[in-house]
Amino acid sequence: MWRNIRILALLLVLGAVALEQWLERTHTQSWRETLWVGIYPLNADGSRAAQSYVEALTREDFVPVETFFAREAHRYGVRIDDPVHVELYPQGSELPPELAPAPGPLAIAWWSLRLRWFAAHASTVPGRVPSRIRLFVLYHDPATLERAPDSHGLQKGLVGVVHAFATGAMTGANDIVIAHELLHTVGATDKYDLATGEPLNPIGYGDPGQQPLYPQAEAEIMAVRRALSPQESEMPHSLRGEVVGAATALEIRWTHP
Ligand SMILES: [Zn+2]
Repeated sequence: MWRNIRILALLLVLGAVALEQWLERTHTQSWRETLWVGIYPLNADGSRAAQSYVEALTREDFVPVETFFAREAHRYGVRIDDPVHVELYPQGSELPPELAPAPGPLAIAWWSLRLRWFAAHASTVPGRVPSRIRLFVLYHDPATLERAPDSHGLQKGLVGVVHAFATGAMTGANDIVIAHELLHTVGATDKYDLATGEPLNPIGYGDPGQQPLYPQAEAEIMAVRRALSPQESEMPHSLRGEVVGAATALEIRWTHP
C-alpha cells in the first residue's frame, strides 16, 4: 500500500513537471504576446575591463536583438509588433554553475538542474518584474581570453548562459550569440556541423536557393556563420548579417508544417 502511494506521488510530481514544461513551451511559442527576455550581466573574470563595460551597459544596447526578432518574425508573417522585448537587470554577483568540458548525458542533466536552481534565485530582483526568459551574460576581458567558452541556451527552464567580450568592437558579435541562445530557449536547434563548425547545407544557409550558392550573402542564426564555400565560413559583424532560416522558423513555430 505504501509502495503504491509512493509511486503515485512520484507520478504526480513527474506529471506536474511535464505539464509545466508543456505550458512553458506553448506560451513561448505562441507569438501572440511580447516575450520578455531578461539580460542579467555578470563580470566573468573579475577584471576591471569587464566591470567598466558592464557598468556602462544600458537597455538600448540590446535594441538590435529586438529589431532582429521583429524583422525576421514579420518576414514569416508573425503579426505581433514586438515579438521580443529585452530588459536589462542589475549586475549579479554570483556566477552560474559551469558545465565541465566534454560532459556526458548525466553531467549535462545535473548541470541543467543546478542552472535552473541558480536562475530561480539570481533572477529575482526586488522591485522588478521577473522576465520569462533569463539570459545570464558573462562578460570577459578580451585581453586575457582569446576564445570565449561555449554558450548554452536551454528550452527546459527557459534559461541561457552567454559568454561575451567586454569591448565595444565585439558588441555586434555578442548580440549574435545572445539571439542564438535565446532561440535555443524557444526550441531552435543548432544548424552547423558540430565537428567542423561549418554551416549545414541547406538548413544552415541564409538562402539555400541563392544563385550562385557561394558566397552566401547572409548567415543563418542557428548556424551563426556565413558560408563562403563548402569548407569556409565567416561570422558576420552584427545581427544585420543574420537571418532566421526556414527550418528554424518551423522549430520555433513562426511557421507551421
Ligand atoms: Zn547553439
